[in-house]
Amino acid sequence: MSETKIIKADITELDVDAIVSAANAALCGGGGVDGAIHRAAGPFLLEECRQLGGCKPGFAKITGGHNLKCWHIIHAVGPVWYGGHKGEEDLLRSCYRESLKLASAHSAKSIAFPAISCGAYRFPVELACKIAVEEVHKWLSQDDSIDVVYFVCFDSKIKQQYLNAIGEQ
Ligand code: ADP
Repeated sequence: MSETKIIKADITELDVDAIVSAANAALCGGGGVDGAIHRAAGPFLLEECRQLGGCKPGFAKITGGHNLKCWHIIHAVGPVWYGGHKGEEDLLRSCYRESLKLASAHSAKSIAFPAISCGAYRFPVELACKIAVEEVHKWLSQDDSIDVVYFVCFDSKIKQQYLNAIGEQ
């Protein structure tokens, strides 16, 4: 039986098989969670990312974990929120599915997600948490290769939104 857990943590410190980064399309490192991951993983992560040729919004690419405890880093490119009429919701849903597909293909049993697009990309947090929870639950109901999915909160406001979204399932 697979499960989801909401945890308050710095995603760079987690001992899981795969962590997800909220990356930008160039996969060249940036601010927020992506910057934290690159700083903690070390400079060879950027070198590996440079070989990947970027990534479109709604998709994800995978690298090794470098200096982190995780085996894999999944670099998911979330949508920038422009008001909701530019396919933002579908793109965010796709990010979760593509990340889970990569995790599963690489035999990851545990995976941790940050709140993709909820920082600099300005996606409304309540909707983003609902999307994250829905897509993860949908995936886990069809794929039993992943044991645990962590929703990582960096601030308590987001934690409450995940709790509400899970309560609605
Ligand atoms: P985006 O550009 O996709 O909006 P951000 O990195 O700006 O991505 O923010 C995504 C979320 O990641 C935000 O909720 C932010 O608080 C959170 N975050 C930032 N640093 C960390 C970290 N070290 N671990 C987990 N979550 C983090």
